[in-house]
Amino acid sequence: MNRIAVIGGGGAGLAAALRLRCAGHEVLLFEKNATLGGKIASHRHEGFTFDLGPTVLTMPFVLRDLFRHCGRSLADYVELHRVEPTCRYHWSDGTAFDAWSNGPHLVEEVRRVFPDDAGAVQAFLDHSERLYDATRELFLFNPFDGPREFLKPSNLGILPMLPRLGLARTMYASLRRRFVSPKLVQVMGRFATYNGSSPYRAPATLNVIPHVEIGMGTWYPRGGMGSIAAALARLAEETGVLAHPSTAVERIELRGRRVISLSANAASHDLDALVANTDVLWAYRNLLGPAGIPAPAAVMRGERSCSGFVMLLAVRGVHRGLAHHNIFFSDDYPDEFRDIFERKRLPRAMTIYLSIGSKSDPSLAPEGCENWYILVNAPESGIEHHDAGAHEAYAASILERLKAFGLEPEIQWRGGLMPLEIESRYNSAGGAIYGASSNGLLSMLRRPRNRVPGLENFFFAGGSTHPGGGLPLVLLSGDITARLVSRYLAGESVNKG
Ligand SMILES: Cc1cc2nc3c(=O)[nH]c(=O)nc-3n(C[C@H](O)[C@H](O)[C@H](O)COP(=O)(O)OP(=O)(O)OC[C@H]3O[C@@H](n4cnc5c(N)ncnc54)[C@H](O)[C@@H]3O)c2cc1C
Repeated sequence: MNRIAVIGGGGAGLAAALRLRCAGHEVLLFEKNATLGGKIASHRHEGFTFDLGPTVLTMPFVLRDLFRHCGRSLADYVELHRVEPTCRYHWSDGTAFDAWSNGPHLVEEVRRVFPDDAGAVQAFLDHSERLYDATRELFLFNPFDGPREFLKPSNLGILPMLPRLGLARTMYASLRRRFVSPKLVQVMGRFATYNGSSPYRAPATLNVIPHVEIGMGTWYPRGGMGSIAAALARLAEETGVLAHPSTAVERIELRGRRVISLSANAASHDLDALVANTDVLWAYRNLLGPAGIPAPAAVMRGERSCSGFVMLLAVRGVHRGLAHHNIFFSDDYPDEFRDIFERKRLPRAMTIYLSIGSKSDPSLAPEGCENWYILVNAPESGIEHHDAGAHEAYAASILERLKAFGLEPEIQWRGGLMPLEIESRYNSAGGAIYGASSNGLLSMLRRPRNRVPGLENFFFAGGSTHPGGGLPLVLLSGDITARLVSRYLAGESVNKG
């Protein structure tokens, strides 16, 4: 029996571990934190349950497929509910817009709020769906080895599609051509932040995300997003993945082009293959670099995705004008992204995302109360991150900004998660949530691969590698990597460099 070590019990690490275990291998999973799930975390406080990372589940079929692969039914572990509207958008001039995953309902809402774009919205979502269909096999569901993938016989069919994949213009430029209303451009452009990027610099290929969220819909589990982490952890235990929580991997040992062991908590573990679910940059700096494998220049120099400034509020009262997912847009969207990616400071003109899980699952807050989760996109580094006073002032400015939308919540308790904590909690270099950003038209083609050039048996799975961040994508990353590991163990050379 082959022995595979997985470093990190995030969604991707768990998915890789489960698939490899179900293929009959011995799998050791090392997680530095006390619980499994990585960024799929939650926090409880006096009758309130808060999500701490992801709040939106898309493409639930990916999760379902993982459970099916292990001979189980997801429904026996997690109860998922569809969330409608998918999001309620608010502007400071009083405009409000509900995005629905039901096509006719959405078109009706666009006709009501943005009448000039009523005809364009369905055409755009159809385009987004075509983009998804054209790119899914190449960019999402299979290993990606860079531009040479386009020349593989199985991918030749995509060549005529190349001009339409949106690699030649930014998301914003493409949306401006499609919609009259700047507000609708803002709604669709915001999806760039789903992988920590800017709509003004990310390629129009990311216009695939509106199909994923609005076209296919969003879900929320009973008990909050932590239920997904708990379900994956339970499945890992049931299938015999040997999990070592509270165990940080500190070192790897190489012999020639192979990793032969790792060290954690002063113990050494021999292995046949290694899957690192850690941030790629962190792994190069802390595991591969010290073992003599330098990081490719693109990994070191690549711009990082944004981080997040998260506030948790235990709120007394029920706010009827709010949906489960709400966005309060900034009045100067371009400047918000200049702050995040150029000035590298907490955005002065901030867009506020407010998720209230108790709108979908009332058990997440005591009766008559709500569990508010606020997320503002933040730069991955910045002097303010080291300054508690600056955080306090920024939290106050977020609450002040909410007043402009008529919101003055009665706060019983406040918690949160700052970029530096995201960094230390998950070893995400700079607190970046999604590894490298997709800013830059060809950035997606340069994303770190699931393998380490020059090493035979070291693989990556997770949001900072292919196919990218977000729950469904990291689960797919685990699947892709598990397939590469299986091919390697079957004697195929998958990692020549
Ligand atoms: C604030 C926030 C909001 C988000 N919102 C959404 C959303 O709404 N929808 C969505 O789909 N996605 C969202 N995401 C993104 C999503 O959560 C991530 O892309 C995904 O969970 C990352 O999974 P992963 O397996 O790649 O990495 P992680 O979850 O980061 O897991 C990596 C694990 O490796 C462990 N580790 C690191 N180094 C070591 C070591 N040396 N030894 C042992 N263990 C180690 C870490 O502790 C961690 O548990 C959000 C993320 C954040 C932070």
